[in-house]
Amino acid sequence: MNIVLLGAPGAGKGTQASMLEERFGLAHISTGDIFRANIKGGTPIGKVAKSYIDAGKLVPDEVTCDIVKGRLCEEDVKGGYMLDGFPRNLFQAQELDKFAHIDLCINIDVDINLLMDRICGRRVCSCGESYHVTTLNGATTCKKCGSPLYQRDDDNPETVGKRLDTYFKETQPLVDYYKKQGKLFTVKSGKQPPSEVFAVIAAELGKRVGK
Ligand code: AMP
Repeated sequence: MNIVLLGAPGAGKGTQASMLEERFGLAHISTGDIFRANIKGGTPIGKVAKSYIDAGKLVPDEVTCDIVKGRLCEEDVKGGYMLDGFPRNLFQAQELDKFAHIDLCINIDVDINLLMDRICGRRVCSCGESYHVTTLNGATTCKKCGSPLYQRDDDNPETVGKRLDTYFKETQPLVDYYKKQGKLFTVKSGKQPPSEVFAVIAAELGKRVGK
């Protein structure tokens, strides 16, 4: 099963993807994580991506589509995958349909008023786990792997404002794109814990893949 995870920044796509990876064995492909790894490694892609990410803008489509196209040729995606953060506009969605077959789009729908606080309070680990300061009780290391937690450079109020604008202008129209294709499953995520959102998604996926 090949899945697109859709949702605003802070909707919990990464958190759900980690849980789904564990339960259903689907490869988790996050374009944001790929860009951050390239920035850390000082690669040419990282150098291009950094200025866009810092400005809360989308990295150019050609760069992003090429990365995803290459990633989908790797061995671990053969048993199914989840795209987290791709596609992010109509062009990317149309390109994706040319080089991949998507079975399902899971749209995590969150009240916009919750997003700013969620993202600015987010602390992440290099292993992919993410937390909110209010639930960390002062802890500074990851409960899963023990590595130090940090705040992403783009998780500050100014950049988050721009990322949310970009989401509403460019990415949200994809809800309709996948609805028209008959592939949309929307889960409403409010203040309930991620485990409850996961239960809804896992029940739906379970029906489709028989797990
Ligand atoms: P994320 O980790 O998904 O929040 O992505 C962080 C940043 O990476 C975004 O704000 C964009 O600047 C960039 N990015 C991630 N995915 C894409 C994409 N599909 N297209 C363009 N830029 C992207």
